[in-house]
Order: sequence, then structure tokens, then C-alpha cells
Amino acid sequence: MKILKFGGTSVGSAERIKSVASLINNGEKKVVVLSAMSGTTNSLVEISDSLYKKDKSGALELIQRLEEKYNAVVDELLKDTVQNAAGHTLVLDRFNTLRKIAGNNFDILGEKEVLAQGELISTHLMYYLLQEQGISSALIPALDYMRIDENGEPVMGLIREGIASQLEKFPNAEIYITQGFICRNPKGEIDNLKRGGSDYSASLIGAALKAEEIQIWTDIDGMHNNDPRIVENTKPIAQLSFDEAAELAYFGAKILHPTSVLPARLENVPV
Ligand code: ASP
Ligand code: MG
Repeated sequence: MKILKFGGTSVGSAERIKSVASLINNGEKKVVVLSAMSGTTNSLVEISDSLYKKDKSGALELIQRLEEKYNAVVDELLKDTVQNAAGHTLVLDRFNTLRKIAGNNFDILGEKEVLAQGELISTHLMYYLLQEQGISSALIPALDYMRIDENGEPVMGLIREGIASQLEKFPNAEIYITQGFICRNPKGEIDNLKRGGSDYSASLIGAALKAEEIQIWTDIDGMHNNDPRIVENTKPIAQLSFDEAAELAYFGAKILHPTSVLPARLENVPV
């Protein structure tokens, strides 16, 4: 089994989502981990900030603007009437959830649920697109298997058992779609693996399944021999040890955080 993780820019528009769909449809069984569409988590943070400031109308305005954006994405992405309707229903459900949270007393629990919506939407949209294209796939809810303890550390045993039983439900699926970033805490509440946590999700899933490899797809073609924002004509490096990758990250490489690859490293799963 391979794990493929796509970040926010990779699913940042209807067109990008379609490219990911064609990329993952190659006949190999795989788990696909998705981030929220780029900009979404930042918008959700803004909505939370407004709610913390008790600016409910400001929050509702941001919610509406984001909902309109998603309805446009659905229309561009899903052409089949059944899938298009499923997409709009999903968007309505998720944004009704946001409106409901906005109507309650806002606290950290509300914030975590708000932040979870981006990954819930992106994964459903990908799933509906694969359905429309007749590609055998299943949606595996991260909230049903990704677990952290009271210190925010992953609980490998529960993650391993949880994801295995999720996959068993769909033995014939070729592509398993799941959310990065989101999880549940020991109280069963919605939580997350901190900003940028989708790489960590992919690494945890890869370790839990002892995957053949984990691929982190992003908007640069690999770890480079120097910082491409500063140095001209840098080159991607074909192969790096975990230590070398960690050293590059220590000296500022933004592409992959060493702690996010630790679970994979412990199980010797190449990233
Ligand atoms: N969507 C989350 C964030 O923007 C997680 C991730 O993309 O890795 O932080
Ligand atoms: Mg990232």
C-alpha cells in the first residue's frame, strides 16, 4: 500500500482537484490524504477569531463568502446531476454546522470543529469526483481512527487498529480518501494535529499500515540542494536519508518538518 498526501495548493481549485484525481487513478491500491483547499484553513481561523471577538455578524459574512466560493467549486467540478447535488448538500451541511457554531457560545471546542471543516469538504469533493468518474474509491473518516492523547501525541495502537478496520470495510476499493490534520482527543472531541499537520497525518497512516512508501505531493518537485527562494538554479535531490532531510529542515527548508516524518522513520517507511 502507498500513501499519497496532497497539500492545499494541490487541491486548491476545481482544476487542481481534477489533476489529482487523474494522478491517483493508476490501478494501484492507495490511501490518499488531503489537506483543505489552499486558503480555507486561514479563512476558518479568521472566522474563529471573529467569534472569539464576539463579532458574530462578521463571522457570518466570512462564512457566507466561503460558502459561495465552495458552491462555485462544486459547479465547476461535478457535472453529473447526482454528484453535483451531493456536492451542494455537503457544502450546505458543513456551512450550516459553521453557522450553528457561530450561534453558540464560542470556545476552543468550537474552534477545533470550525478548523476541521476544510479537510472534511476537500475529501468529500474528491470522493464525489471519483464517483462521477466511476473510479472505485472509499471515504475513510479520519475522525473515526486518528487519535491523540491528552498531550496531543498520537496513539499509535488506536490509529493502527482504527484504520485497519476502516479499510476492511471496503476491501475492493482501489483508492481510500481520508482527511489530513483532523483527529479526536481522549474525550472523543474533534481536535487537530496543529497547522500544517496533514504531512504528519500521512506519516502516521504510513507507519500504522507499514506502507511501502509515503509520497508528499506539494508545489515544489522535492527537497532541493539549496533554498530556491534565495539561490538560483537549485536542483531537487533524488535521495536523502532521514537525518539529511532533518538537517535541511533544521537549516530552514520549509518543505517537510522532521517531526512530521518521525513516525514513518520509526517504521522504516520511505517518504
Ligand atoms: N489545512 C491545515 C492547515 O492549513 C493542515 C494542512 O494543510 O497541513 O494548516
Ligand atoms: Mg503543508
